[in-house]
Amino acid sequence: GIGEEYPLQVEGLRKDFGGITAVDDASFRVERGTLTGLIGPNGAGKSTAFNLITGMLEPDAGTVTFDGEDITGLKPHAIANRGLVRTFQIARELQDMTVLENMMLAPKGQRGESLWRSVVPGVRGDVIDQESDLLDRVWEVLEFFDIDHLAEEYAGNLSGGQRKLLELARALLTDPDMLLLDEPFAGVNPSLEKRLLEHIHELREQGYTFLLVEHDMDLIMENCERVIVLHQGRVLTEGTPAEIQADEEVIEAYLGG
Ligand code: ADP
Ligand code: MG
Repeated sequence: GIGEEYPLQVEGLRKDFGGITAVDDASFRVERGTLTGLIGPNGAGKSTAFNLITGMLEPDAGTVTFDGEDITGLKPHAIANRGLVRTFQIARELQDMTVLENMMLAPKGQRGESLWRSVVPGVRGDVIDQESDLLDRVWEVLEFFDIDHLAEEYAGNLSGGQRKLLELARALLTDPDMLLLDEPFAGVNPSLEKRLLEHIHELREQGYTFLLVEHDMDLIMENCERVIVLHQGRVLTEGTPAEIQADEEVIEAYLGG
């Protein structure tokens, strides 16, 4: 069915904050196995859309469908258990803990089937339910992101870029099929940004689906297969990077503020 090809479908989504309509009858879908960009000027409603999709906020109208099932209004952990997650900034209280402790405390996926096992060679195919299995898996993920040497470092001492890698590593422990990334490169130096992008592409090639909010238009156009443009809470247009760059309405929305 359509849920196979498009794991995430948003239909008529709306959210009001007092007099402001942050997301206004937005409809879009994200194709499986793509890195899809969600762009739009400041205040366009990108973060609110993420919060609605992942259950952090309840929509005033509309539906969110994931893998063919209506997930509108479900709690964040229930949505994460279905395989749809977003990255989170490391909370203040977690900054006084080590990278390893942060990983051990990350929410864990409840699902037996994981794409992760095909990404990392040597990970066993059985359901991970033992502490030692969890520890093994945590190390595999840390190694995948090249941050295993930072395991004993306090999260608060990491550079901006290293922290972003940790945020992505934590999200991957939930066994997701799809990840929403809200400005994952903010405060990341160019070489770490390149590495982070390589990891994202590698995971995408393994079948993970990504929806990415990012300000850097060059980065979006060079890395995304599809781009969705939000403007004043509405979907202005959707297409390939080439189509988006040639779109008069998009140019106007950005240049006209
Ligand atoms: P973006 O991420 O695209 O910059 P946001 O989703 O953060 O946009 O914001 C969309 C609009 O909704 C903005 O006008 C913003 O001020 C408003 N907004 C977002 N969150 C809240 C909130 N919790 N309370 C009131 N207004 C909000
Ligand atoms: Mg935002």
